[in-house]
Amino acid sequence: MCPMKCQIKKTVSLNRLPVRQLLLLKQVGRLADEQGMSVYLVGGVVRDLLLKRENWDLDLTVEGDGIAFAKLVADRHGSGLAVFERFATARLTFKNGLKMDIAMTRRESYAQPALLPTVQPASIKEDLSRRDFTINAVAVQLNQREFGRLLDPNGGQRDLQARTIRVLHAGSFQDDPTRIFRAIRFEQRFGFRLERATLRLLAQAASTNLVQRLSGPRLQNEILLLLAEQDPARAIARLEQLKLLRFLHSRLRYTNKVKRTVTAVSKSLAWWVSRFPDSAIDRPIVYLMALSSESSPAVVATMIRRLTLSREQAKRVSFGGGRADRVLKRLTDKGTVRRSQIFRLLEDFSDEVHVLLFAKQVSRKQKVGLSLLKRRLTAYMKNRTTKTVLTGRDLQAMGLQPGPQYKTILGKLLDARIDGRVTTEAAERAFVRKWLG
Ligand code: ATP
Repeated sequence: MCPMKCQIKKTVSLNRLPVRQLLLLKQVGRLADEQGMSVYLVGGVVRDLLLKRENWDLDLTVEGDGIAFAKLVADRHGSGLAVFERFATARLTFKNGLKMDIAMTRRESYAQPALLPTVQPASIKEDLSRRDFTINAVAVQLNQREFGRLLDPNGGQRDLQARTIRVLHAGSFQDDPTRIFRAIRFEQRFGFRLERATLRLLAQAASTNLVQRLSGPRLQNEILLLLAEQDPARAIARLEQLKLLRFLHSRLRYTNKVKRTVTAVSKSLAWWVSRFPDSAIDRPIVYLMALSSESSPAVVATMIRRLTLSREQAKRVSFGGGRADRVLKRLTDKGTVRRSQIFRLLEDFSDEVHVLLFAKQVSRKQKVGLSLLKRRLTAYMKNRTTKTVLTGRDLQAMGLQPGPQYKTILGKLLDARIDGRVTTEAAERAFVRKWLG
């Protein structure tokens, strides 16, 4: 229910938007006037305007031919245009970098649950009623005379103020099970709660095998978006609570140890980013690795296939298990380990894996091991840029026949550089000669 202070607005001020966006929306509104069309800003951006949160995704919808209108806007502004016929949507990219999605207001029908719907033109009211949750089923008109008029036929404002996620009809999760994950995403992001009937419907949908019918890319998209949120550890716990992790794999093990590793990822990421700001980390993948870190390689492999992860992502995720523990054991060994040995231990792994290793160590709460690991990771990152002066060509000039031994010799030379045993070109040459001799 709406709390006492609940105030239902009829207009929304768009002045919170950066001035470039605001100007553009006004121009688009006037262009729609010229065409006798109605145009609206719609969905998440309107929700976030009402919540006073930043969101500059310009999602527009027009009553009428959305693609033709998008082409017109693109012509007027000389912007780039990509048209997605299948979905009757278009994306504009403006010279100043702004992006805008334009769709036609539509009705959707689901021939089969969990498959993509077919779309037909419809009024803005119908368009809003096919959306996922009341808080996202809001629009603001952009035509000049109605600029800022709020359309909220499903009580979106009421639910925003009551901090509630509510579906628009009982068959919503069945039509589109991605909404199950979307519900959790918004619940966690805003600290809202699922309205009682919505929670019941979600639990009902989750207890069936509907999610299994989702294609790999659609499930992947939802999971990675959830893991890209501010606090994925909480989102993962919520997935577990609602028995949704089984859709990644029925034998995915969410043990206390996994929980601790997942929770430690944020600390690990914070340290990593502060220490190595230039390394771009795929955060969702680190969380997925942490989540599957106690599952068997066979389970992880099946999960990777289910999510149709890219080859690169798959390589990272499959590292999470026993191998990570073995590498970590050596990395936190208090005995002397040469810098080159650490380098060789880590060089094949991505930075995501390094962040996971650090998270695992954080979760163990062993101070000594952690500071040792910090030092070793830092040294490794420094050594990554170390190069030998000599190259294959130099080896050839020194009379060595080209062949696989080049790789071995240059590798040994690099190790010697990293360990500080050679520091000059002359020393490198002497090292090669000695090694050959
Ligand atoms: P975010 O803030 O994470 O970008 P968003 O609400 O903007 O979230 P988008 O995925 O960009 O979400 O979608 C834009 C709008 O399209 C949503 O606000 C909602 O109105 C509608 N929408 C998106 N996905 C669905 C869905 N699966 N079912 C129904 N409506 C949807």
